[in-house]
Amino acid sequence: MTERMLQFVRLQQQTPDKRAATVRREDFNEIYARFDPPRAAEQASRCSQCGVPFCQIHCPLQNNIPDWLKLTAEGRMEEAYELAAATNTFPEICGRVCPQDRLCEGNCVIEKGFESVTIGSVERYIVDTAWENGWVKPPTPKRELPYSVGIIGAGPAGLAAAERLRIRGFQVHVYDRYDRVGGLMIYGIPNFKLEKNVVLRRWEQYAAGGIHFHMNVAVGQDVTLDQLRGRHDAVFIATGVYKARDIALPGAGLGGVVAALDYLTASNRQGLGDSVPDFDSGALDAAGRDVVVIGGGDTAMDCVRTAIRQGAKSVSCLYRRDKANMPGSMREVHNAEEEGVRFLWLSAPEAFLGEGDVTGVRAVKMHLGLSDSTGRQQVAPIEGSHFVQPASLVIKALGFDPEDLPTAFNEPALPVSRWGTLKVNHRTLMTALPGVFAGGDIVRGASLVVWGIRDGRDAAEHIASYVKAQAGVEAQAGVKAQAGMAASAMMTAAE
Ligand code: FAD
Ligand code: SF4
Ligand code: SF4
Repeated sequence: MTERMLQFVRLQQQTPDKRAATVRREDFNEIYARFDPPRAAEQASRCSQCGVPFCQIHCPLQNNIPDWLKLTAEGRMEEAYELAAATNTFPEICGRVCPQDRLCEGNCVIEKGFESVTIGSVERYIVDTAWENGWVKPPTPKRELPYSVGIIGAGPAGLAAAERLRIRGFQVHVYDRYDRVGGLMIYGIPNFKLEKNVVLRRWEQYAAGGIHFHMNVAVGQDVTLDQLRGRHDAVFIATGVYKARDIALPGAGLGGVVAALDYLTASNRQGLGDSVPDFDSGALDAAGRDVVVIGGGDTAMDCVRTAIRQGAKSVSCLYRRDKANMPGSMREVHNAEEEGVRFLWLSAPEAFLGEGDVTGVRAVKMHLGLSDSTGRQQVAPIEGSHFVQPASLVIKALGFDPEDLPTAFNEPALPVSRWGTLKVNHRTLMTALPGVFAGGDIVRGASLVVWGIRDGRDAAEHIASYVKAQAGVEAQAGVKAQAGMAASAMMTAAE
């Protein structure tokens, strides 16, 4: 270990500069600046190079964090990049969007007493530097293999699998019903958390590396799963979860009551320069409106902060528990508060009011009661505490469930859990259909980018072994068949 490390006793934690709330409310650009080289080296040097690095254990990709922190502290950036890229398909994206407070940084041992090492920001710095210096290369294999894999879904799980398989020499075909790759990284997560060029430049690299993209192809409609199985040696399903959870309240059909993902997709598309009729007509534009967002997760935070940037008159978030019990990342809640979002804690909606278009939400105050068997405190309404929150746009952000994939894919043999997620063998990620693998949100339920990458990475390993084993079996069968034919020819000749 060099004297450069262990600086946490001397150096304070510093996060990259954050733009002032009054400034960042005005645009959709990312809110955090990048570390400059001396600051990145300094912050990386705070790591104490633990023998048992809890940061690494709690990173879903088991990133080699202590080593790339040390390399960054020493200014050996290209090596730091190679190490970061060895385990992570999108380190620069994880550095931006992982909830580090719950993963690597939340488990950094110096967090106790000192502030944790700013792992995510350093990871982002390493890979943004790599992009600037041209170190990020297309995934080109050393030799081509005669096997092909079909991947359904170009989100983080599908892309991670595609990259890994392509590097090994597989012929990789990615099918997606959208026109751009990235899945929720392109149309869900807002630009102020993840600028879209960061996702799109990866697409260019993958295409340059020989991955074939078939965009605007909805599997189940334009092509069947069965056809893909016929075309490819294996198929990986990574279609994510998109069915919005709903609340059956009076007035749910009023104009101006919309689903979170419709709202966020319209905003992202508009930012990408697409023509979005529902945005242009004002249906999915918060400008000048009183906005109420229902929900307490990260999607709700993305909606409130998007509404602020669109120039809403007021933005409130209605959540039935309190701040301490919010499922979303505290960092995002804090950012939303700074930007002017009003939180109505312990408030549950009862009805949407209005005629034709929504004019308000009738809500009731809640109190937290005893914990249930899962340890979560129960909530109950407080009698007589009703109130009306004015609203001309209500955004429902209550989470997502999987679509009915066996029906959509016309493949009843695809088994699903009671939550509708695809069932896989957890050791191989293969479904009950031979050669059909699955991963990401469609298996886990709504999760995180980093878990999608993990599944894609693992699936690639299992798919490669499966395809090669199958090819071996077929080759053996071919040899046996040939030997059999030769033997019978000899026998015929002898006769
Ligand atoms: P997806 O990213 O959903 O990709 C699935 C792809 O499959 C899509 O491109 C879709 O078009 C395609 N597809 C679906 N059905 C078909 C079909 N029949 N035929 C062809 N293609 C199909 N995670 C974080 O870590 N940090 C965050 O800050 C964060 N913010 C989020 C904000 C929002 C608003 C949302 C909704 C999610 C957020 N997440 C965040 C979660 C994260 O985006 C997902 O967990 C992750 O993208 C899942 O990856 P995936 O590859 O499984 O699926
Ligand atoms: Fe932390 Fe996510 Fe990077 Fe892992 S991938 S080190 S959890 S930011
Ligand atoms: Fe460094 Fe913290 Fe990881 Fe220990 S837990 S190796 S101090 S980043």
